[in-house]
Amino acid sequence: MTRVLVVEDEPLFVRALVIHLRARQFDVDTAPDGATGLQVAAEKRPDAVLLDLGLPDMDGFEVIARLRRLTRSPIVVVSARRTSDEKVEALEAGADDYVTKPFAMDELLAGVRAAVRRTRIKESSVIRATVETGSLSVDPVAGQRTAEAGVFGSLPPNGTCSRSSSGIPGSS
Ligand code: CA
Repeated sequence: MTRVLVVEDEPLFVRALVIHLRARQFDVDTAPDGATGLQVAAEKRPDAVLLDLGLPDMDGFEVIARLRRLTRSPIVVVSARRTSDEKVEALEAGADDYVTKPFAMDELLAGVRAAVRRTRIKESSVIRATVETGSLSVDPVAGQRTAEAGVFGSLPPNGTCSRSSSGIPGSS
């Protein structure tokens, strides 16, 4: 079953999405703000994330950037904002698709399915490439996942890791 995380602060909209997603056999988790969304994403490992950019606690683009450190799963932005700048910014921050409210539910769900399919094809071709080279023993997908989880767990949000190398001569 495909697991979808809905990060959205409007309860009626969340309810509508949950009803439609479950009716189409998706597993659904929901989060009303960015911090909860990141926590649920880390715990539940969703196959796709539906993300509202206008959240009460965090900037939507920041949520996209932090989700990208956690998961390669597709992020579909669902936003009432309309400027093309914002769409470009969301895609550059790591989103896979951008849907403007209001939208047709079937269109959104088709977009989610397509994004999940693309990601799965990409991941399986990476794994196949590793097997075919033979000499490599590292699984790039698993390796990266571990590294990403470690970074997320140890770095503060603003990333002060440069401090640790500042005392080493010639390091800068
Ligand atoms: Ca909102």
